[in-house]
Amino acid sequence: MGENIKADMEFSILASTFEKIEAITSRTQMTMYLVDLFRKTPPEIIDKVIYLIQGKLWPDWMGLPELGVAEKTLVKAIALATNTPESKVEALYKKLGDLGKAAEALKKEREKSSAGMGLLAFIPTEKKEKLTVLKVYNTFTRIALATGEGSRDIKLKLLAGLISDASPKEAKYIVRFVEGRLRLGIGDATILEALAIVYGGGAHTRPIIERAYNLRADLGNVAKVLALKGLEELKGIKPEVGIPVRPMLAERLSSPMEILKKAGGKALVEYKYDGERAQIHRKGSNVWIFSRRLENITKQYPDVVEYTLKHLKSNEAIIEGEIVAYDPDTGELKPFQELMHRKRKHDIHIAMKEYPVKVFLFDLLYADGEDYTNKPILERRKKLEEIITPSEVFRIAEYIMTDNPEELEKFFLKAIEDGAEGVMVKALHGQAIYQAGARGWLWIKYKRDYKSEMIDTVDLVVVGAFHGRGRRGGTYGALLMAAYNPEKDVFETVCKVGSGFTDEDLAKLPEMLKPYIIDHKHPRVVAKMKPDVWVTPALVAEIIGAEITLSPIHTCGMDAIKPGVGISIRFPRFIRWRPDKGPEDATTTKELIEMYKKQLKKITA
Ligand code: ATP
Repeated sequence: MGENIKADMEFSILASTFEKIEAITSRTQMTMYLVDLFRKTPPEIIDKVIYLIQGKLWPDWMGLPELGVAEKTLVKAIALATNTPESKVEALYKKLGDLGKAAEALKKEREKSSAGMGLLAFIPTEKKEKLTVLKVYNTFTRIALATGEGSRDIKLKLLAGLISDASPKEAKYIVRFVEGRLRLGIGDATILEALAIVYGGGAHTRPIIERAYNLRADLGNVAKVLALKGLEELKGIKPEVGIPVRPMLAERLSSPMEILKKAGGKALVEYKYDGERAQIHRKGSNVWIFSRRLENITKQYPDVVEYTLKHLKSNEAIIEGEIVAYDPDTGELKPFQELMHRKRKHDIHIAMKEYPVKVFLFDLLYADGEDYTNKPILERRKKLEEIITPSEVFRIAEYIMTDNPEELEKFFLKAIEDGAEGVMVKALHGQAIYQAGARGWLWIKYKRDYKSEMIDTVDLVVVGAFHGRGRRGGTYGALLMAAYNPEKDVFETVCKVGSGFTDEDLAKLPEMLKPYIIDHKHPRVVAKMKPDVWVTPALVAEIIGAEITLSPIHTCGMDAIKPGVGISIRFPRFIRWRPDKGPEDATTTKELIEMYKKQLKKITA
């Protein structure tokens, strides 16, 4: 932030990359444009370039302020910078539906008119400095960090200055960025691949860069270490307290016998609590809590901060657990929705009293200078137990160790009776490390609703929408939903969902989708069905249906079961939005294929 770095790059290079990426429809092309961009970027500023292409100034988990510029201020800044009445800016915005385009048009108009002035155009006041990445980044930072009295004027002045120095194209992207509407939909995987090609020596080095990123979820930080110090340095990277580690995730199965077989015999079986995952970091008297999506949720849980300081003996550690709401009168656990109520309260101290929580710990990733992610589970647990002074509200998750399917089933039923969602079964062997950022078979979830007809709900991403008719005129009638395919880093369509929405859900749809609407299919979406509008993959919803079926019009798992057909859901129904999940956290193609196969087995059994 605001540091004095000599190496810099013209901002126009970045703006042109944005423009190119916006116009393309293939992911390979997207990667190539990023490769081009990274080749031109001085290593010293690679972190900033990466944040900017993601539409951010810093990783979300830092919990630093966003730009915080109101639309009105933005309009004013454009008016000032282009010497145009605000009413004209607003009219143009209305006409074009995009403030970025409005700024671009006004800048073009201004360029033309000064060209028309012939030599007069070169009077010194009109002489502009070329914008550079650092100049733009540092100005954005100053805008974001300006707070308190007078900050609106400061933000306005800084912004007007930037737009004034910008070319029409640059102005378009500066405005969109400030509005939070850059939304190019470039995924982490695409950036990692481009980094591997440019700095790692080829796409084959991506796993090394990815591992570093999994341990330190800061793409900018990892890219900078790679660009400045090389691949070898990245290999030795450890988690750092204060930077979240990307969470390890579970596969799913529904038969105790199969689960134990897959886990390699004897396994650690724990309650799967229905709360919010928390990665708790501590260094001295500082505590950070990160969510499953790596957001900094420390402020929402002052009680958990206090428990940590009181019951964690290590001075420096990263541990993981589930935060669960409970009834203080009975001690009973309450479902996840209860935590959502707590989040909606404005006064956290009142919320804390109304919705008290307990923490059930299940893993340890780092303690006193040592990286535990590469150590087997029993070693991690032993250390975890050593550094905790257990209490009613801060303790190790309920567990048993067993190789017996009946015992597992019994424990599963007990878990449900106690208000958990089911159990997590964890492999105990020597290779059972903490696989940061990966969904694998070392952890297997066995959940209650697997016993219903469509075995479980799935989380799918909105990639398109269909206009509503009749009672739904003016909003959308259905959404085109997709699963995530991590191997190809694309979203493959699964179903068109139109039921399950309340009137309120429907009324909110246009507003919710608006910022994500694009005029062509997003390059990371694979679809045969053509919706009325395309949407950048961002919003995740939980969906249930009657059964998983094969379909020739959906692209999820195309050819995996039979040539020319994909996987779909019959009678899909919307259950709720999952704001705690990002598009890459959606149910994967592979999971849907597995669910389809499981269902077949059940039918034929
Ligand atoms: P779901 O939507 O089923 O919670 P998910 O995609 O968020 O799944 P999974 O890895 O599939 O994540 O399931 C593990 C999740 O269950 C964790 O993210 C965590 O929040 C929660 N959980 C509850 N109890 C445990 C436990 N004992 N061990 C690990 N995770 C647990």
